[in-house]
Amino acid sequence: MAKTTSFAEKAAKAMAGKKGSECPKCGEPLQNVLVITSEKNDKHGYKYNERFIKVCKCNEKEVYA
Ligand SMILES: [Zn+2]
Repeated sequence: MAKTTSFAEKAAKAMAGKKGSECPKCGEPLQNVLVITSEKNDKHGYKYNERFIKVCKCNEKEVYA
């Protein structure tokens, strides 16, 4: 019998690759959101920082406020 890779196996591998992005508190998938914050700098005026933060139901209100 020839060895075949079923669709289910492929799907399982794809899912495994994305695992690890769930909030331990609410179990919702975490979304990477780009947040830009400004920081006052005496010499150069304002400096902008871009960072990705993981957002779920636990902190979305704080992030989008
Ligand atoms: Zn959460």
